[in-house]
Amino acid sequence: MIKSNDGERLRNPSVVIIGAGMTGLLLTIKLREAGITDVTLLEKTDRLGGTWRENTYPGVACDIPAHMYTYSFESNPGWKHRFAHGNEIQAYFERVGRKYGVTNSIRFNEAVTSCTYARGQWTIETSKQQTLTADFVINCTGILHHPTKPDIKGIERFQGAMFHTAQWDHSVPLEGKRVGIIGTGSTAAQVIPEVAKQAQKLSVFQRTPQWIIPLGNKKISEKQRESLRKNPNKLRRLRLAYEWGLSQLLTKAVTGAKLQNALFNFICKRNLALSIKDPVLRKKLTPDYKVGCKRIIINTTFYPAMQRDNVDLVTDGIVEITEKGIKTADGKEHELDALVLSTGFDPTAYMRPMNMVGKNDLHINTAWQDKVQNYRSMCTPGFPNNFLMLGPNTPIGNYSVIAMSEVQCGYILKVLEQWRAGDFDEIDVKPSAVSQFADYMRAGMKNTVWVGGCQSWYLDKDGDPILWPYSWARWEQEMAQPDYEDFNLQSFAAQKTSAPAEAGVCETL
Ligand code: NAP
Repeated sequence: MIKSNDGERLRNPSVVIIGAGMTGLLLTIKLREAGITDVTLLEKTDRLGGTWRENTYPGVACDIPAHMYTYSFESNPGWKHRFAHGNEIQAYFERVGRKYGVTNSIRFNEAVTSCTYARGQWTIETSKQQTLTADFVINCTGILHHPTKPDIKGIERFQGAMFHTAQWDHSVPLEGKRVGIIGTGSTAAQVIPEVAKQAQKLSVFQRTPQWIIPLGNKKISEKQRESLRKNPNKLRRLRLAYEWGLSQLLTKAVTGAKLQNALFNFICKRNLALSIKDPVLRKKLTPDYKVGCKRIIINTTFYPAMQRDNVDLVTDGIVEITEKGIKTADGKEHELDALVLSTGFDPTAYMRPMNMVGKNDLHINTAWQDKVQNYRSMCTPGFPNNFLMLGPNTPIGNYSVIAMSEVQCGYILKVLEQWRAGDFDEIDVKPSAVSQFADYMRAGMKNTVWVGGCQSWYLDKDGDPILWPYSWARWEQEMAQPDYEDFNLQSFAAQKTSAPAEAGVCETL
C-alpha cells in the first residue's frame, strides 16, 4: 500500500508491459512517474526501439518532422535532419531509455508466449519458461511489425538473395547487381533512391502509383541545433508549427476538409507534373485515386531516382517469380541477382501470434475472428485489465503516433488511478460500448478519403479503414477521460495483495 498526496491509501498494481518500442518505453516511464513501481517490461529481442530497431533498410527515416516525432516530455534539439534518419531515432529512444532508468530493467530476449486472465489477474508465460502474474497487461506490441510476404506464384523458387525491407540482409552487397524491388509505398520511396545509387540496374515493380508531397529532408546544421539548445522556446515553437501543419492541414485533408484536400491535390499533382519529364513515365506514375486515399508519401528523392538511366519502372503485372527473376504479364523475364520485398505489413495482427486468453477462455483470435475491433482502440470485451497501445482506429494518416500514444497513456493512467483507489478490481469494456464506438467510427469514415476506392493497409478485410476518422483535437478531447459507464466494473470480496511499492516515488506505508 502507498499513500497519495492527500493521505488516501492507494494500492500498487503489478503491471506487465509487452514490447520495448516507443509505446512500451513511454508507458514504463509514465507509470513509474505516477508512483506505480511494480512494472515489468518484457522485450522479445535484445534491444529496445521496436520499429526503429527492426527497420534498418537504406534510406530509413521518419516522414513526420523529427521535432514532433519526439516525446512531449523529452524534446530533442539535437535532431540532425528535418525527417530523422532511422539510426538517429533509435539512438534517441536508447538515450531516453537510459536517462529514465528503463533500459537496465528491461527483460530482454524474453517473448511473451501466453497471457491468461482469471479473476482480476493475468498470468503471463514467457519464452524463458518463466511465469509472471500481474493486475494489468499492456500490449505495446506495435502495428506494422508483421512483414507481408507477397503471395506470388513461384516465390520460393528464386535463387538470388531475397528479403523484406523490415528484415534487410546487410550481408548482401547490392553494388553492381541487378536488383528488383516489389512495391512503391512509403518504405519503397525511401529505399529506391538509395538502392538506385548502388545497383547496376534496379527494376521497380509497381502495382499502384502513389501521390507524393515534395518536402525535402533538409539537414539541420550544428549552428541551428545549438540555437535550439539555447532557446527552448524556439524549439517549442518549432514543434507547435509542425503540430499545426499536420493537424490543421494534412490530417484535415484526409478526414473531410475540402479546402485542405484541394490544396494537397494541387501540390501532389503539380509535383508529379514538374518532376517527371517523360510523359510516358509520368502517366505510369499517375495514381487514379484521390490524394490521401493511400498514405501520402513525403519525399523529394523518389521521382529523381525513377528517372535514372539504371532504373526501370515495371508496371506490367507480376505473373510469377522464377529461379532467375520475375516474369511479367508482357511475357518478359526480368533477371535479378537480388529481390527486395517492400510489400508492407499485416496491420491487424497486433500482439498475435501470442496466445492471449481472456475471461471464460475467450481467445483473442476468437474475439477478433469476424472483425478486429476495439473500444477506443485500446479495449477488447472479455479481456479485462488489458490495453492495446496503437490498436485499431489509432493512426490518423500522417499524424505522429507518439502524440497519439501519449494520449492513450494518459487514459490508461486514469484507469489505473481508479483501480489504485480500490474502486474496482476488474475493468472490462461492455460489448455494447464497442458497437457504439464502431458506429461512431463508421459515421466518420464516410467523410474520409480512405474510402475513396483505393486499396491500402488502412483497410481491413471488409474494406473498413482502421484509422481515426476525425480530427486530432477530437482524439485529444475524447480520449482524455475514461467513461466508466462503458465498462463493467467488478470488485472481488477477498482483496488480492500486490507487491509493495518501492520507496522513492510515493510514501510507503
Ligand atoms: P505499404 O504502404 O503497404 O506498401 C506496400 C507496397 O507493396 C504497395 O506498393 C503494394 O502495392 C505493394 N505490394 C504488396 N503486395 C504486392 C504484390 N503481391 N504484388 C505487387 N505489389 C505488391 O507498405 P510500406 O511501404 O512498408 O509502408 C507501410 C506503412 O509503414 C506506411 O504507410 C507508413 O505508415 C509506415 N512507414 C512510415 C514511414 C515513415 O517515414 N514514417 C516510412 C516507411 C513506412 P499496392 O499499392 O498495389 O497494394
